[in-house]
Amino acid sequence: MITLIFATNNENKVLEIRQALPEGFEIISLKEAGILKDIPEPFDTLEANATEKSTVIHKMTGKNCFSEDSGLMVAALDGAPGVKSARFADGEPQYGSNTDKLLHLLRNTEQRTAYFKTIISLIINNKEVLFEGICTGRIATEPLGTGGFGYDPVFIPDGSDKTFGQMSLEEKQEFSHRKKAVKKLVVYLASLAGSEQV
Ligand code: IMP
Repeated sequence: MITLIFATNNENKVLEIRQALPEGFEIISLKEAGILKDIPEPFDTLEANATEKSTVIHKMTGKNCFSEDSGLMVAALDGAPGVKSARFADGEPQYGSNTDKLLHLLRNTEQRTAYFKTIISLIINNKEVLFEGICTGRIATEPLGTGGFGYDPVFIPDGSDKTFGQMSLEEKQEFSHRKKAVKKLVVYLASLAGSEQV
């Protein structure tokens, strides 16, 4: 069994990644590892934030761990909210949520192309490796569905006419940016396990 600490407090992300991992891998959330710390995401790229999160946890525990940072890039908004996806509407009480703000900014545009991107930073055997996953799609004109989290009710992946919010977790995994990054992580871990370097 390969055990990794997942440097996140987002239970939805833990669920999604746990579901995406094959047998032989076990992940422990920060809470389960007894770490009650919110790790800051101060940088302006997903890569730098992911590296920061895994490095902080690796320094604290000395254990193999990984983190992920994700964002939604919207073409009509020059790539915003991007790295600031989690905090897009912070400090703007006129918007009830990040999705409200997004739909408001796009209310007059037909250009609704967007993509989700995930970067995973793995630190294993004291070495860092990055993995990327992208899911292209478009922004709906209204929120649909109650599944998932964040921007799920307004994001329609290419190849579907449903939002992530209208899908079960299993359906979302067929398209998910996070799942694609995790697949690369798993291939890498399996190659290490095969050569008994873990
Ligand atoms: P962070 O990776 O914790 O900084 O969060 C990125 C933010 O992007 C989340 O809080 C969500 O708002 C959004 N996000 C990332 N991945 C997804 C997803 O799969 N569905 C919906 N929103 C997401």
